[in-house]
Amino acid sequence: MKQTPGVQISEVGPRDGLQNTKRIMPTADKLRWISALHAAGLSEIEVGSFVPPKLLPQMADTAEVVAGARLMPDLMVLALVPNQKGASAALAAGVHKLTLPVSASEAHSMANVRRTPLEMVDELRAVVALRDAHDKNIDVEVGISTAFGCTMQGRVDEDDVIRLAVRCAEAGAQQVGLSDTTGYANPAQVRRLFRRLRAELGERAGAAHMHNTRGLGLANCLAAYEEGVRTFDASQGGLGGCPYAPGASGNVVTEDLVFMFEAMGVRTGVDMALLLQAREILARGLPDEPLYGMIPEAGLPKGYTVEAAHV
Ligand code: ZN
Repeated sequence: MKQTPGVQISEVGPRDGLQNTKRIMPTADKLRWISALHAAGLSEIEVGSFVPPKLLPQMADTAEVVAGARLMPDLMVLALVPNQKGASAALAAGVHKLTLPVSASEAHSMANVRRTPLEMVDELRAVVALRDAHDKNIDVEVGISTAFGCTMQGRVDEDDVIRLAVRCAEAGAQQVGLSDTTGYANPAQVRRLFRRLRAELGERAGAAHMHNTRGLGLANCLAAYEEGVRTFDASQGGLGGCPYAPGASGNVVTEDLVFMFEAMGVRTGVDMALLLQAREILARGLPDEPLYGMIPEAGLPKGYTVEAAHV
């Protein structure tokens, strides 16, 4: 039997998804959903963000969610932090990994965190210092947002993206990935940028965070995979977007991404039947939110088995 290298799917729905919903999901429902995602085999979950509750009331209970998620065996519990204050709160709450968004677009950066990209690199350095003082085993990762284009600025220069990624690695980020916050990316661009990123950063080149806004989410993930990327952010039901990128709703759908890889014989560690059960829990917790995904609609192909795909 041919052993194909696997991929890590990092579920971001509880953060990227729930921060964009009109209704606030109660803490108990969030934990029920996260527990179901974990049971389905998702071993890394971004459970929330440490941002002022005034800005994102949906995320006000993140410390509680982290505390609950930490009890789930072998789950890597991630939280997004925009700054030192958020990082302190996340470290105190006991996260296993921090992720910091650094935008390549100056306009998006100012709107999102009221700092320029270079000021965010300074903030990152300070977050790394906080982490060092707390526990060096906790990873700090960066996602370069608007890496493929920006709803405010339009085109984002590829040299700027790579330069910023290198600065973030120099500032101490263990992993630097690229995020298509606005759903502008195409597969040729994804290949080009991840190739350059890997040439500069080697194994510290991080995750592909793709949105499906213009229908290219899976194609972009496949392009990134072919360039050697092995960690992919995705969101159950395609929940998510960015409050400062209007219309940019919809992360890559976890269900569809799992199907694509498993059908190709690339292991994800995720059980589709249990993943679809988690989707029902999400739907019950957010009854008026539209959930996306082709596999949940169409079902698995006749005769499809994961075992057959892995032979
Ligand atoms: Zn996103």
